[in-house]
Amino acid sequence: ATPTSIMVGTGRAAEMGVLFRKGDALQSLQESKVIALDKTGTLTAGAPELTTLETALDWTRETALPLIAALEARSEHPIASAIVRAAAGYDLADVIEFSSVTGMGVRGIADGKTVLVGADRFMTQEGIDLGEYAQTADVLAQTGATPLFAAIDGKIAAVIGVSDPIKPTTAAAISALRSMGLKVAMITGDNAVTAHAIARELGIEHVVAEVMPDGKVAAVQTLRETHGKVAFVGDGINDAPALAAADTGIAIGTGTDVAIEAADVVLMSGDLVGAVNALKISQASMRNIR
Ligand code: ADP
Ligand code: MG
Repeated sequence: ATPTSIMVGTGRAAEMGVLFRKGDALQSLQESKVIALDKTGTLTAGAPELTTLETALDWTRETALPLIAALEARSEHPIASAIVRAAAGYDLADVIEFSSVTGMGVRGIADGKTVLVGADRFMTQEGIDLGEYAQTADVLAQTGATPLFAAIDGKIAAVIGVSDPIKPTTAAAISALRSMGLKVAMITGDNAVTAHAIARELGIEHVVAEVMPDGKVAAVQTLRETHGKVAFVGDGINDAPALAAADTGIAIGTGTDVAIEAADVVLMSGDLVGAVNALKISQASMRNIR
């Protein structure tokens, strides 16, 4: 690409709310074979709501939620705010110990009880038997909700469903990306059953789920080895390594600063329409040079 065509391309892009932070991103984006998408906050609104709370043993919503939400009040994860909002009006328990386990959940001591909240793999890792509640969680996940478990003093006390709606513009943007000849993939830290349910709804054929940030990097590398250049779109702190590893990292402008810092392209719009525009601009400006 000539310096002039790059200037024209990046200038037009900026008018459309697509910021190319590096001139060569115009070229690498145009050469993309795969567009890999983070799920939470990229395909979905990133503003989950607690939609289900099923309690176990002698626990009720009134007794379990103040313990669960007391821990989540210390977490910054969007799932945590959904749970805390659902507990509005309850007197939260006193927390004397708290820690957050990346990609897993939170743990602590609330009102003298040991409380764990998080993914099925977190419970399994902590030696907690899911029993029949594994089935309850799968049913939730098949609807596209994220299933979480709360264990109190070593036993499952609740199964929680948290739903994050797909952004209204996502489906059309994915169709546009596919009609541009790109292979579309999803890479997420969320539950595999949930991820597949959302992917099916959007017609995304390739799904990598339940991965930590370094797992997102590995997924990008595998896609590149198999198909060619990869553009990755994400918004979260956990997306930053994959944004840096992709041939073109595209950050959602409403996302975290860490993601924006790691990206080659930043979308001012909070959705995937910006990614479609970025690709169109890259193709048009590279055509102009030939
Ligand atoms: P992503 O943003 O791609 O969904 P994360 O790595 O942030 O991935 O989270 C992965 C999973 O870890 C979540 O789906 C959830 O099961 C669990 N998790 C993370 N943080 C919390 C939390 N504060 N409370 C409960 N579960 C959590
Ligand atoms: Mg995200």
